[in-house]
Amino acid sequence: MARYSMERALNLSEAARIALLQEMMKDTKRNERGGLLACLAGVVVSVAGFSTIPLVSNSFELGVVGLVIAAVGFAVYLHYSRLYSRFVVQMAKIAFKSATPCPQCGKELPEGEFGFCPFCGTSLKSEGVIQQEFLEEDATTLP
Ligand SMILES: [Zn+2]
Repeated sequence: MARYSMERALNLSEAARIALLQEMMKDTKRNERGGLLACLAGVVVSVAGFSTIPLVSNSFELGVVGLVIAAVGFAVYLHYSRLYSRFVVQMAKIAFKSATPCPQCGKELPEGEFGFCPFCGTSLKSEGVIQQEFLEEDATTLP
């Protein structure tokens, strides 16, 4: 009984962690896109500057500024895209972990589709059925 409610609390905190991670991933993706846009804008400014050197004064400076913007934008993009892939790995770990333990003995199940737990022999039902069992447990433990 106590193990069940503890497992449930663990699942809830995992859900909260996933929600937080999703929020961070959204932010990271936005920053990554911002960096890429800055990089592209920098390239455009730089090309515009360098291609008009014989025509307009200060064009060289404009081109250099464009290059700097492009470099900074690219660094920002690279940083956030690396961060994002780290979040993806974390998310995959959480998703894998929360899906693996056997509901009966709590042992981590090996990869692949199993109809039963190889450790204790419990048949592995769908999540919906397990949740229904939790609800029934709640009903019986209520005063
Ligand atoms: Zn088991």
